[in-house]
Amino acid sequence: MVATLSNILLATARLKMFKQNILVLIGILIVGAVLLVVLFAAWVALRAWLWNRTKAASDRERYREKYAPDGQPYPPAAAGVCDRCGRTFGKVYYLPDGQRLCPKCFA
Ligand SMILES: [Zn+2]
Repeated sequence: MVATLSNILLATARLKMFKQNILVLIGILIVGAVLLVVLFAAWVALRAWLWNRTKAASDRERYREKYAPDGQPYPPAAAGVCDRCGRTFGKVYYLPDGQRLCPKCFA
């Protein structure tokens, strides 16, 4: 192949186009990587927020189980028979005076 002027110009133009295509490809890769990192960070933040919400709700629930609405702690509880209504419950309060009351009779 003879290296005429037109051939050299054509090769230079093709090389320029190749370089531009490579730059566009690198740009797309960088944008994709940044987008991936941002999406991952957003996903982690969302999971952390949901976890915090669930934990706060379960903390409130546990507090409600241990403390009456007036802030006084409930007496120790275990499964047993209520002294007042005589039925068996999974949760019966054992009062300091020895009486056992179900949550319904206790309230
Ligand atoms: Zn009862």
